Amino acid sequence: MKQYVLKPKYIKVGGLIDVVKKTVTEGVALIVEEEVITRIEPIGKPDPKKYRIYDYTKKFVIPGLINTHVHLFNLENRSLQQYNELSVVEKVFHASEILTQYLDQGVTYIRTVGCNGTLDIDIKRAIAKGLMEGPEIMAAGPALCITGGDSWKWSIEADGVDAVRHETRKLIKRGADVIKVIGSGGVLTKDSNPNVAQYTVEELRTIVEEAHMAGLKVACHAFGSQAVLNAVAAGVDSVEHGVYMCEDGAKALAKNHIYLVPTLVCESNIAKSNKKARMLGIELAHAPSLHEEHLKSIQRAIEYGVTLAAGTDSGSPLTGHDVLVDELKMYNACGLDPIDALATATINAANCLGIGDQYGSIEVGKIADLVILNKNPLKDLAAITSIHAVFKKGKRVRS
Ligand SMILES: [Zn+2]
Repeated sequence: MKQYVLKPKYIKVGGLIDVVKKTVTEGVALIVEEEVITRIEPIGKPDPKKYRIYDYTKKFVIPGLINTHVHLFNLENRSLQQYNELSVVEKVFHASEILTQYLDQGVTYIRTVGCNGTLDIDIKRAIAKGLMEGPEIMAAGPALCITGGDSWKWSIEADGVDAVRHETRKLIKRGADVIKVIGSGGVLTKDSNPNVAQYTVEELRTIVEEAHMAGLKVACHAFGSQAVLNAVAAGVDSVEHGVYMCEDGAKALAKNHIYLVPTLVCESNIAKSNKKARMLGIELAHAPSLHEEHLKSIQRAIEYGVTLAAGTDSGSPLTGHDVLVDELKMYNACGLDPIDALATATINAANCLGIGDQYGSIEVGKIADLVILNKNPLKDLAAITSIHAVFKKGKRVRS
Protein backbone atom coordinates (compact mmCIF):
# COMPACT_ATOMS: atom_id res chain seq x y z
CA MET A 1 0.00 0.00 0.00
CA LYS A 2 1.24 3.47 -0.87
CA GLN A 3 2.41 5.43 2.17
CA TYR A 4 1.36 9.06 2.21
CA VAL A 5 3.71 11.37 4.03
CA LEU A 6 2.12 14.45 5.56
CA LYS A 7 3.58 17.72 4.35
CA PRO A 8 5.22 19.75 7.11
CA LYS A 9 3.06 22.64 8.26
CA TYR A 10 4.19 26.22 7.91
CA ILE A 11 2.19 28.25 10.44
CA LYS A 12 2.54 32.01 10.16
CA VAL A 13 1.56 33.92 13.29
CA GLY A 14 1.32 37.63 14.08
CA GLY A 15 2.51 37.27 17.67
CA LEU A 16 4.07 34.32 19.50
CA ILE A 17 3.58 34.41 23.26
CA ASP A 18 6.58 32.83 24.92
CA VAL A 19 5.56 31.81 28.44
CA VAL A 20 9.13 30.84 29.37
CA LYS A 21 10.98 33.99 28.29
CA LYS A 22 7.84 36.05 28.96
CA THR A 23 8.07 37.80 25.61
CA VAL A 24 5.94 38.36 22.52
CA THR A 25 7.70 37.87 19.18
CA GLU A 26 6.03 39.39 16.15
CA GLY A 27 5.86 37.83 12.70
CA VAL A 28 6.97 34.26 13.35
CA ALA A 29 6.66 31.02 11.38
CA LEU A 30 6.34 27.69 13.18
CA ILE A 31 7.38 24.68 11.14
CA VAL A 32 5.65 21.55 12.38
CA GLU A 33 6.58 18.08 11.20
CA GLU A 34 4.22 15.33 12.29
CA GLU A 35 3.57 16.21 15.99
CA VAL A 36 6.64 18.28 16.68
CA ILE A 37 7.73 21.90 16.26
CA THR A 38 10.99 21.56 14.32
CA ARG A 39 11.77 25.21 13.51
CA ILE A 40 10.76 28.68 14.64
CA GLU A 41 11.91 31.48 12.34
CA PRO A 42 10.94 34.86 10.89
CA ILE A 43 8.18 34.56 8.28
CA GLY A 44 9.66 33.79 4.87
CA LYS A 45 8.28 32.66 1.52
CA PRO A 46 7.50 28.98 1.92
CA ASP A 47 7.04 26.78 -1.15
CA PRO A 48 3.38 25.62 -1.16
CA LYS A 49 4.47 22.39 -2.84
CA LYS A 50 6.63 21.58 0.17
CA TYR A 51 4.48 22.91 3.02
CA ARG A 52 0.89 23.11 4.09
CA ILE A 53 0.61 26.80 4.87
CA TYR A 54 -1.58 28.41 7.54
CA ASP A 55 -1.84 32.18 7.67
CA TYR A 56 -2.50 33.59 11.14
CA THR A 57 -0.53 36.79 10.66
CA LYS A 58 -3.25 38.82 12.37
CA LYS A 59 -3.48 36.42 15.32
CA PHE A 60 -1.60 35.40 18.45
CA VAL A 61 -0.40 31.93 19.36
CA ILE A 62 -0.16 30.47 22.87
CA PRO A 63 0.68 26.91 23.93
CA GLY A 64 -2.20 24.45 24.30
CA LEU A 65 -3.78 25.07 27.70
CA ILE A 66 -3.45 22.55 30.53
CA ASN A 67 -5.91 22.12 33.39
CA THR A 68 -4.25 20.16 36.21
CA HIS A 69 -7.30 19.56 38.39
CA VAL A 70 -10.32 18.07 36.68
CA HIS A 71 -12.86 15.37 37.51
CA LEU A 72 -14.18 13.61 34.46
CA PHE A 73 -17.80 13.81 35.40
CA ASN A 74 -20.24 16.61 35.62
CA LEU A 75 -21.80 17.33 38.97
CA GLU A 76 -22.57 20.94 38.18
CA ASN A 77 -26.27 20.25 37.96
CA ARG A 78 -26.46 16.67 39.08
CA SER A 79 -26.01 14.91 42.42
CA LEU A 80 -23.47 12.13 42.85
CA GLN A 81 -26.32 9.71 43.36
CA GLN A 82 -27.89 10.72 40.05
CA TYR A 83 -24.51 10.31 38.38
CA ASN A 84 -24.04 6.86 39.87
CA GLU A 85 -27.37 5.79 38.42
CA LEU A 86 -26.17 6.46 34.87
CA SER A 87 -25.10 3.48 32.78
CA VAL A 88 -21.46 3.12 31.71
CA VAL A 89 -22.46 4.07 28.16
CA GLU A 90 -24.16 7.24 29.38
CA LYS A 91 -21.12 8.10 31.49
CA VAL A 92 -18.84 7.68 28.47
CA PHE A 93 -21.06 9.94 26.34
CA HIS A 94 -21.14 12.57 29.07
CA ALA A 95 -17.36 12.37 29.39
CA SER A 96 -17.02 12.69 25.63
CA GLU A 97 -19.16 15.84 25.71
CA ILE A 98 -16.89 17.31 28.41
CA LEU A 99 -13.73 16.45 26.49
CA THR A 100 -15.07 18.04 23.30
CA GLN A 101 -15.74 21.17 25.33
CA TYR A 102 -12.11 21.21 26.48
CA LEU A 103 -10.78 21.14 22.92
CA ASP A 104 -13.22 23.91 21.97
CA GLN A 105 -11.58 26.01 24.72
CA GLY A 106 -8.02 25.28 23.62
CA VAL A 107 -7.39 22.92 26.53
CA THR A 108 -5.28 20.18 24.98
CA TYR A 109 -4.15 18.43 28.17
CA ILE A 110 -5.93 17.69 31.43
CA ARG A 111 -5.04 15.87 34.62
CA THR A 112 -7.96 14.00 36.20
CA VAL A 113 -7.53 13.74 39.97
CA GLY A 114 -10.28 11.59 41.34
CA CYS A 115 -12.83 9.53 39.50
CA ASN A 116 -15.67 7.43 40.78
CA GLY A 117 -13.95 4.30 39.43
CA THR A 118 -11.44 4.14 36.59
CA LEU A 119 -13.43 5.61 33.71
CA ASP A 120 -10.80 8.34 33.27
CA ILE A 121 -8.03 5.76 32.78
CA ASP A 122 -10.08 3.87 30.20
CA ILE A 123 -11.04 7.05 28.36
CA LYS A 124 -7.43 8.20 28.33
CA ARG A 125 -6.55 4.94 26.57
CA ALA A 126 -9.39 5.33 24.07
CA ILE A 127 -8.16 8.83 23.19
CA ALA A 128 -4.57 7.63 22.85
CA LYS A 129 -5.78 4.94 20.42
CA GLY A 130 -7.69 7.53 18.39
CA LEU A 131 -11.07 6.01 19.24
CA MET A 132 -12.30 9.17 20.91
CA GLU A 133 -11.69 12.87 20.50
CA GLY A 134 -10.38 14.87 23.43
CA PRO A 135 -7.41 16.45 25.14
CA GLU A 136 -4.63 14.23 26.32
CA ILE A 137 -5.31 12.93 29.82
CA MET A 138 -3.10 12.17 32.78
CA ALA A 139 -5.45 10.06 34.85
CA ALA A 140 -5.45 9.23 38.55
CA GLY A 141 -8.47 6.93 38.70
CA PRO A 142 -10.00 7.07 42.20
CA ALA A 143 -8.28 9.04 44.98
CA LEU A 144 -7.06 7.45 48.20
CA CYS A 145 -8.57 8.62 51.49
CA ILE A 146 -8.81 7.53 55.11
CA THR A 147 -11.96 5.71 56.21
CA GLY A 148 -14.68 8.34 56.30
CA GLY A 149 -12.27 10.92 54.91
CA ASP A 150 -13.19 13.78 52.63
CA SER A 151 -14.60 12.58 49.28
CA TRP A 152 -14.90 9.02 50.61
CA LYS A 153 -17.98 8.46 48.46
CA TRP A 154 -15.90 8.49 45.28
CA SER A 155 -12.51 7.43 46.64
CA ILE A 156 -10.77 4.30 47.91
CA GLU A 157 -10.69 4.15 51.72
CA ALA A 158 -7.39 2.75 52.97
CA ASP A 159 -5.80 3.04 56.43
CA GLY A 160 -2.33 2.20 57.66
CA VAL A 161 0.98 1.85 55.89
CA ASP A 162 0.35 -1.64 54.49
CA ALA A 163 -3.11 -0.82 53.16
CA VAL A 164 -2.08 2.41 51.44
CA ARG A 165 0.94 0.66 49.92
CA HIS A 166 -1.30 -2.10 48.59
CA GLU A 167 -3.90 0.31 47.19
CA THR A 168 -1.24 2.49 45.56
CA ARG A 169 0.23 -0.57 43.86
CA LYS A 170 -3.23 -1.65 42.72
CA LEU A 171 -3.85 1.78 41.17
CA ILE A 172 -0.51 1.61 39.37
CA LYS A 173 -1.39 -1.88 38.12
CA ARG A 174 -4.75 -0.58 36.89
CA GLY A 175 -2.99 2.10 34.82
CA ALA A 176 -3.03 5.28 36.92
CA ASP A 177 -0.60 7.96 35.68
CA VAL A 178 -0.65 9.94 38.92
CA ILE A 179 -1.77 9.21 42.48
CA LYS A 180 -4.27 11.51 44.16
CA VAL A 181 -4.50 11.42 47.92
CA ILE A 182 -6.87 13.25 50.26
CA GLY A 183 -4.72 14.77 52.99
CA SER A 184 -7.36 16.81 54.84
CA GLY A 185 -11.04 17.32 55.34
CA GLY A 186 -12.97 19.32 52.77
CA VAL A 187 -16.12 21.29 52.23
CA LEU A 188 -18.27 18.96 50.16
CA THR A 189 -18.45 15.96 52.47
CA LYS A 190 -20.94 15.85 55.32
CA ASP A 191 -19.35 16.36 58.78
CA SER A 192 -15.91 16.94 57.27
CA ASN A 193 -13.70 19.56 58.91
CA PRO A 194 -11.51 21.15 56.23
CA ASN A 195 -8.97 22.31 58.80
CA VAL A 196 -8.25 18.82 60.08
CA ALA A 197 -5.39 16.86 58.49
CA GLN A 198 -6.12 13.33 57.31
CA TYR A 199 -3.52 10.57 56.93
CA THR A 200 -0.34 10.50 58.98
CA VAL A 201 2.94 11.65 57.44
CA GLU A 202 4.02 8.02 57.52
CA GLU A 203 1.04 6.92 55.44
CA LEU A 204 1.50 9.78 52.99
CA ARG A 205 5.20 9.02 52.72
CA THR A 206 4.44 5.40 51.86
CA ILE A 207 2.12 6.48 49.04
CA VAL A 208 4.77 8.87 47.72
CA GLU A 209 7.46 6.19 47.97
CA GLU A 210 5.43 3.69 45.96
CA ALA A 211 4.30 6.22 43.38
CA HIS A 212 7.78 7.65 42.86
CA MET A 213 9.25 4.19 42.54
CA ALA A 214 6.89 3.64 39.60
CA GLY A 215 7.71 7.08 38.13
CA LEU A 216 4.37 8.63 39.12
CA LYS A 217 3.74 11.93 40.84
CA VAL A 218 1.48 12.46 43.85
CA ALA A 219 -1.14 15.20 44.11
CA CYS A 220 -2.38 15.84 47.65
CA HIS A 221 -5.65 17.54 48.60
CA ALA A 222 -4.84 19.80 51.57
CA PHE A 223 -6.93 22.67 52.95
CA GLY A 224 -5.23 23.81 56.16
CA SER A 225 -1.60 24.44 57.05
CA GLN A 226 -1.10 21.21 59.01
CA ALA A 227 -2.21 19.14 56.02
CA VAL A 228 0.07 21.18 53.75
CA LEU A 229 3.02 20.65 56.11
CA ASN A 230 2.30 16.90 56.27
CA ALA A 231 2.18 16.75 52.47
CA VAL A 232 5.48 18.62 52.23
CA ALA A 233 7.10 16.35 54.83
CA ALA A 234 5.93 13.32 52.86
CA GLY A 235 7.42 14.69 49.63
CA VAL A 236 4.30 15.05 47.47
CA ASP A 237 4.63 16.80 44.11
CA SER A 238 1.64 19.12 44.24
CA VAL A 239 -0.72 20.41 46.87
CA GLU A 240 -4.31 20.96 45.78
CA HIS A 241 -6.47 23.82 47.13
CA GLY A 242 -4.52 25.25 50.12
CA VAL A 243 -7.67 27.12 51.14
CA TYR A 244 -6.75 27.89 54.74
CA MET A 245 -2.98 27.80 54.31
CA CYS A 246 -1.04 30.13 56.61
CA GLU A 247 2.46 31.54 56.31
CA ASP A 248 4.20 28.35 57.41
CA GLY A 249 2.46 26.30 54.70
CA ALA A 250 3.29 28.81 51.98
CA LYS A 251 6.92 29.01 53.10
CA ALA A 252 7.26 25.23 53.12
CA LEU A 253 5.84 24.92 49.59
CA ALA A 254 8.15 27.63 48.27
CA LYS A 255 11.23 26.21 49.98
CA ASN A 256 10.59 22.69 48.67
CA HIS A 257 9.52 23.79 45.17
CA ILE A 258 6.17 22.04 45.46
CA TYR A 259 3.41 23.22 43.13
CA LEU A 260 0.18 24.65 44.46
CA VAL A 261 -3.00 24.05 42.46
CA PRO A 262 -5.44 26.64 43.87
CA THR A 263 -8.87 25.74 42.34
CA LEU A 264 -10.13 29.20 43.40
CA VAL A 265 -13.10 29.13 41.07
CA CYS A 266 -14.46 25.98 42.70
CA GLU A 267 -14.37 27.34 46.26
CA SER A 268 -15.86 30.60 44.99
CA ASN A 269 -18.75 28.65 43.45
CA ILE A 270 -19.25 26.69 46.65
CA ALA A 271 -19.24 29.84 48.77
CA LYS A 272 -22.05 31.37 46.72
CA SER A 273 -24.07 28.25 46.00
CA ASN A 274 -25.67 27.25 49.24
CA LYS A 275 -29.14 27.06 47.77
CA LYS A 276 -28.13 25.04 44.73
CA ALA A 277 -25.98 22.77 46.91
CA ARG A 278 -29.01 21.94 49.03
CA MET A 279 -30.96 21.12 45.88
CA LEU A 280 -28.23 18.66 44.90
CA GLY A 281 -28.31 17.12 48.37
CA ILE A 282 -24.92 18.48 49.42
CA GLU A 283 -24.50 19.71 52.96
CA LEU A 284 -21.77 22.29 52.80
CA ALA A 285 -19.39 22.28 55.74
CA HIS A 286 -17.73 25.63 55.43
CA ALA A 287 -17.55 29.10 56.85
CA PRO A 288 -19.22 31.77 54.70
CA SER A 289 -15.77 33.33 54.37
CA LEU A 290 -14.40 30.30 52.48
CA HIS A 291 -13.60 32.16 49.27
CA GLU A 292 -12.11 35.23 50.99
CA GLU A 293 -9.83 33.01 53.09
CA HIS A 294 -8.79 31.16 49.95
CA LEU A 295 -7.96 34.39 48.12
CA LYS A 296 -5.80 35.53 51.05
CA SER A 297 -4.03 32.19 51.10
CA ILE A 298 -3.22 32.32 47.37
CA GLN A 299 -2.06 35.95 47.61
CA ARG A 300 0.25 34.87 50.43
CA ALA A 301 1.53 31.94 48.38
CA ILE A 302 2.33 34.29 45.49
CA GLU A 303 4.13 36.67 47.87
CA TYR A 304 6.29 33.82 49.18
CA GLY A 305 7.15 32.70 45.65
CA VAL A 306 5.14 29.47 45.50
CA THR A 307 4.73 28.28 41.90
CA LEU A 308 1.09 27.92 40.91
CA ALA A 309 -0.24 25.40 38.41
CA ALA A 310 -3.74 26.14 37.13
CA GLY A 311 -6.52 23.80 38.17
CA THR A 312 -10.23 24.44 38.45
CA ASP A 313 -11.75 21.37 40.14
CA SER A 314 -14.16 21.23 37.21
CA GLY A 315 -16.55 18.33 37.46
CA SER A 316 -16.73 18.52 41.24
CA PRO A 317 -20.10 19.53 42.64
CA LEU A 318 -21.21 23.01 41.48
CA THR A 319 -18.29 23.68 39.10
CA GLY A 320 -18.52 23.29 35.33
CA HIS A 321 -15.89 22.62 32.70
CA ASP A 322 -15.75 26.09 31.14
CA VAL A 323 -14.10 28.05 33.94
CA LEU A 324 -10.33 28.04 33.30
CA VAL A 325 -10.41 31.66 32.17
CA ASP A 326 -12.12 32.65 35.45
CA GLU A 327 -9.46 30.78 37.41
CA LEU A 328 -6.66 32.64 35.57
CA LYS A 329 -8.38 35.98 36.08
CA MET A 330 -8.46 35.26 39.82
CA TYR A 331 -4.69 34.56 39.83
CA ASN A 332 -4.29 37.88 38.07
CA ALA A 333 -6.41 39.56 40.75
CA CYS A 334 -4.27 37.84 43.44
CA GLY A 335 -1.11 39.43 42.08
CA LEU A 336 0.16 37.52 39.03
CA ASP A 337 0.79 39.45 35.80
CA PRO A 338 -1.22 38.16 32.81
CA ILE A 339 1.87 36.38 31.41
CA ASP A 340 2.47 34.67 34.77
CA ALA A 341 -1.20 33.75 35.02
CA LEU A 342 -0.96 32.26 31.53
CA ALA A 343 2.18 30.37 32.59
CA THR A 344 0.19 28.61 35.34
CA ALA A 345 -1.97 26.95 32.65
CA THR A 346 0.95 26.18 30.31
CA ILE A 347 4.58 25.79 31.35
CA ASN A 348 3.99 25.59 35.13
CA ALA A 349 1.19 23.08 34.61
CA ALA A 350 3.39 20.98 32.32
CA ASN A 351 6.24 21.04 34.83
CA CYS A 352 3.84 20.17 37.65
CA LEU A 353 2.76 17.10 35.67
CA GLY A 354 6.36 16.20 34.81
CA ILE A 355 5.83 16.70 31.06
CA GLY A 356 7.57 20.08 30.70
CA ASP A 357 10.16 18.65 28.31
CA GLN A 358 7.42 18.06 25.72
CA TYR A 359 4.52 20.35 26.57
CA GLY A 360 3.67 23.75 28.03
CA SER A 361 5.53 26.14 25.73
CA ILE A 362 6.16 26.82 22.06
CA GLU A 363 9.73 25.72 21.52
CA VAL A 364 11.66 23.67 18.98
CA GLY A 365 11.43 19.99 19.85
CA LYS A 366 8.15 20.28 21.75
CA ILE A 367 4.78 18.82 20.79
CA ALA A 368 2.77 21.25 18.63
CA ASP A 369 -0.19 21.87 20.92
CA LEU A 370 -1.16 25.40 19.91
CA VAL A 371 -4.03 27.80 20.39
CA ILE A 372 -4.51 30.59 17.87
CA LEU A 373 -6.20 33.60 19.49
CA ASN A 374 -7.88 36.58 17.86
CA LYS A 375 -6.56 38.98 20.49
CA ASN A 376 -3.53 39.44 22.70
CA PRO A 377 -4.19 37.68 26.04
CA LEU A 378 -1.52 39.75 27.78
CA LYS A 379 -3.73 42.82 27.34
CA ASP A 380 -6.79 41.00 28.66
CA LEU A 381 -6.84 37.37 29.78
CA ALA A 382 -10.41 37.09 28.50
CA ALA A 383 -8.78 36.81 25.03
CA ILE A 384 -8.09 33.13 25.72
CA THR A 385 -11.78 32.52 25.06
CA SER A 386 -11.60 34.23 21.67
CA ILE A 387 -10.22 31.23 19.82
CA HIS A 388 -9.57 31.07 16.10
CA ALA A 389 -7.99 27.60 15.85
CA VAL A 390 -6.60 24.80 17.99
CA PHE A 391 -3.83 22.34 17.12
CA LYS A 392 -3.29 19.16 19.11
CA LYS A 393 -0.14 17.18 18.42
CA GLY A 394 0.41 19.09 15.19
CA LYS A 395 -3.09 18.43 13.87
CA ARG A 396 -5.64 21.21 13.53
CA VAL A 397 -8.60 20.03 15.61
CA ARG A 398 -10.61 23.27 15.71
CA SER A 399 -10.92 26.15 13.25
ZN1 LIG B 1 -10.97 17.97 43.09
